[in-house]
Amino acid sequence: MSVPARVPVVIIGGGPAGLLLARLLQLAGVESVVLERQTRAHVMSRVRAGVLEWGTVEVLRSASVGDRMDREGFVHDGVSLSFADRLLHVDFAGLTGRSIMVYGQTEVTKDLYAALDEAGVVVVDRAADVLPHDVAGDAPFVTFVDADGAAHRIDCAYVAGCDGFHGVSRTVIPSAVARTYERVYPFGWLGILSETPPVNDELIYAHSARGFALCSMRHALLSRYYVQCPLDDALDAWPDDRFWSELRARLPTEAAARLVTGPSIEKSLTPLRSFVAEPLRFGRLFLAGDAGHVVPPTGAKGLNLAVSDIHYLAAALIDALSGGSTTGLDEYSDRALARVWKAVRFSWWLTRLMHRFPDQEPFDLKIQEAELSYLAGSPAAQQSFAENYVGLGF
Ligand SMILES: Cc1cc2nc3c(=O)[nH]c(=O)nc-3n(C[C@H](O)[C@H](O)[C@H](O)COP(=O)(O)OP(=O)(O)OC[C@H]3O[C@@H](n4cnc5c(N)ncnc54)[C@H](O)[C@@H]3O)c2cc1C
Repeated sequence: MSVPARVPVVIIGGGPAGLLLARLLQLAGVESVVLERQTRAHVMSRVRAGVLEWGTVEVLRSASVGDRMDREGFVHDGVSLSFADRLLHVDFAGLTGRSIMVYGQTEVTKDLYAALDEAGVVVVDRAADVLPHDVAGDAPFVTFVDADGAAHRIDCAYVAGCDGFHGVSRTVIPSAVARTYERVYPFGWLGILSETPPVNDELIYAHSARGFALCSMRHALLSRYYVQCPLDDALDAWPDDRFWSELRARLPTEAAARLVTGPSIEKSLTPLRSFVAEPLRFGRLFLAGDAGHVVPPTGAKGLNLAVSDIHYLAAALIDALSGGSTTGLDEYSDRALARVWKAVRFSWWLTRLMHRFPDQEPFDLKIQEAELSYLAGSPAAQQSFAENYVGLGF
């Protein structure tokens, strides 16, 4: 694959944010190159998000990458919260008129790669030492080394930093310009994927004396389950039998009785963090998705925030590059962050409500129980939960 010497936009990172940006630009006739550090097989095998807000569904459809999602995804009209041995169903459709779509991030990524390949967009895999230069000036460029060891330089008008939390893009913003906000949670999530029927038709978020658990799924024969665990636990401390008995103990009796167990086909430990970098722009460099902000997976917001950032950024870049105005670019950071912070708040709130904290006192537990009981009895509280979960407007 030949790498052009100049394109309007260089996109660093081939996760959902970078691939979706490349797709939206291509549909508008704007050329870009995506530089991805990993192999394509690696990117496509990462098991991550599985819940799409309705706004995300609509963006994917508008990018003409929604056909398989509409065929194979599952529309859920609500989720259940469990506590005190009961299941509380929150009816999203009834409360907000909107639903969510269960469709794995891996599948979204595959659909985007297929669309970009078909359109001939250059996605460079195994790009090493990627580095943006001169982004504060009018003539930025990006350098990298390809898989054969050849060095490249691509000149561009704009650089999109879509390279996730551990990427390089955010690091080139001087510390005098960047401000960061962070909350690290004192536990992790141990997740497994198993080829078993999901315990419930919809997701269950479980509050229990033993800690949090989440019952999620990919399809009728593929379940995704998580249990809260200490941050320093090793994966081999969690053989499948221990995982299943811990999960069962955290579910209400009625759901535990329905749980079907089987061998795990994937197991991972995820730390939980809230993080926001401000602003999301430095000169001609724009951060989007996990490169600019991270949320704990509790509210299922990370992938969805990447999509809303790209929705704003793509429109702004297209406007600026097609001879229109740069107002969208000037407003991008404020616009994206206004939505990001609301999702950060929701994810933080749900994390605090559902987990056991190591330093939790009896008072804190009583507050959690009171809040869950309030949620169960108040249509207004359920509506607020539902509105945030299905996703705030773009
Ligand atoms: C276990 C788990 C469960 C999750 N569950 C949910 C959920 O249910 N709902 C939800 O919305 N979100 C969820 N998330 C979060 C979601 O997966 C992320 O928010 C999402 O992947 C962000 O997309 P992104 O494209 O911004 O970043 P990433 O997916 O991290 O993509 C960044 C890409 O950049 C590449 N890269 C990094 N550094 C460089 C470099 N120097 N040069 C070139 N390329 C580079 C990386 O290899 C990667 O491919 C979950 C995350 C995890 C880990």
